[in-house]
Amino acid sequence: MKRLFSEIFLNIVAGIIALSILAISAYTLWIDRLDTWQEAERSSRNVLTAIARDLTSDLELLDLSLKGVMEARRTVDFQKLAPDIQYRLLFDRAASATFMGSLLVVNAAGGLLADAGPVIAPRNLNVADRDYFKIHKENNHIGLYVSRPFKSKIRKDDFSIGISRRLSHPDGSFEGVVMGSMPLSDIDQLFRDLSLGQEGTINLFRSDGILLTRHPFDASQVNQDFGGSPHVQRLLQGKSGTFDSISPIDGVRRIISFERLDRYPLVLTVALSVDEIFATWRRKALVLGLITAALCSAVVGLTFLFQSELRRRTRAETKLRRIARTDDLSGLPNRRGFREAFEREWRQAIRAGSSLSLLYVDVDWFKSFNDRYGHGRGDEVLRTIAGTLDANIRRPRDVAARHGGEEFAVVLPETDLEGARMIAENIRKAILALGIVHEGSPYQLVTVSIGVASAKPSRGSNGSYLQEASDRALYEAKAAGRNCIHESAANEIDAPKRQLQDVTS
Ligand code: GH3
Ligand code: MG
Ligand code: MG
Repeated sequence: MKRLFSEIFLNIVAGIIALSILAISAYTLWIDRLDTWQEAERSSRNVLTAIARDLTSDLELLDLSLKGVMEARRTVDFQKLAPDIQYRLLFDRAASATFMGSLLVVNAAGGLLADAGPVIAPRNLNVADRDYFKIHKENNHIGLYVSRPFKSKIRKDDFSIGISRRLSHPDGSFEGVVMGSMPLSDIDQLFRDLSLGQEGTINLFRSDGILLTRHPFDASQVNQDFGGSPHVQRLLQGKSGTFDSISPIDGVRRIISFERLDRYPLVLTVALSVDEIFATWRRKALVLGLITAALCSAVVGLTFLFQSELRRRTRAETKLRRIARTDDLSGLPNRRGFREAFEREWRQAIRAGSSLSLLYVDVDWFKSFNDRYGHGRGDEVLRTIAGTLDANIRRPRDVAARHGGEEFAVVLPETDLEGARMIAENIRKAILALGIVHEGSPYQLVTVSIGVASAKPSRGSNGSYLQEASDRALYEAKAAGRNCIHESAANEIDAPKRQLQDVTS
């Protein structure tokens, strides 16, 4: 019972330690994961803010160029000016725009009126098929328009987007369009030096969901309409924000920061791959996980070892205790075992208000048996007698013990004097019936004398008077000629004050 309790206690303590180690590592990793996530959010927002600012200022410069053209054309008598003066008036401001492919001025039919840009050669160009031309032609309230990406009519493989404004006659009718193109390769230049990892991306959407450009550049995605994708709709609805989502473009899970540019119908996103963000964290988690597993196994292993050692010791102690209470020769409880059994049964008899009987059994003329047949044969006989005693007590709580030398004691709980006498008589007869020859005895056989006493102990009494009564009875049996039983009245008054250990020590 005590052992079970200490084992349970040990298991609980070990469990608490193991769980604590687990909880601490899990907590550490969790906090670390949150930090990593926040750090990724922060850095993607920083990148976003920086490129949004750059892009806005580039667009502003380009728009200024467009406005410059519009103002120039409103100049009185513009048409009468010399061509080179016209050119200077139109494109004065264009020089300051960084990302400018070309700057075109077209008439109401889409025909080229003037252009500036890298290609100066005279061109025969018509843009009536472009979306920006159609939009401005049909609406006079659009203001600045950002076109879908298109392939330059001059440089065939180069995508550009056009930023355009409508030219109107004083009466508001359509006069033409001024359009500045931004090559996507130039915009991509803006993103090239940012470190976004292998799978980090930057996307520039028009606010209706058309993907204008993407870094790393992917011609197959550009100009596609993602307006229907819930993922992109989320970008288009807010002013700015951060969320994580699986990209509809390449299926990679990313943390996405997005921002709508202040004055332009554009949404920029910076997306960092979740896998890459947590790569370092995952390595750390693996190492910490392994260490945690090792520590927990160590705790469990040590507990197991400790427990088996505890069990081994308990077994050894139990064995020692049993040995300390067992008589070597007969295998019966020894004097100490007898004393403990007697005290236990005495207390039990007090509690139950029942009778307790005690027999003292002494072998007759045993000194002379030893002298005649040798000590070895004497030992054999003592063993046989012990076996006979044991065989004649039947109840589980009855105890036969070797009290010392050739003297035995039998404790009979819940047995009155009459029952005790019967058992004593059985024992005496059984030993006589063994028929062990003893020529030194008048009976010619090994016999025993037995003193019988019984008591019904009252509260607060000790058992010494019962022992003394049995002893007295044995003495009387010896005096009466041996091989017989005597009983003695166990009277508490006779020896009320003596301590149990006086008798047993
Ligand atoms: P009584 O009939 O009065 O009991 O005579 P007794 O000779 O049996 O009594 P006594 O007390 O004079 O002698 C006891 C003898 O028991 C002494 C010893 O030789 C013998 N004896 C005691 N312990 C052992 C033992 O462990 N082995 C053997 N073989 N003999 C023992
Ligand atoms: Mg004797
Ligand atoms: Mg004796």
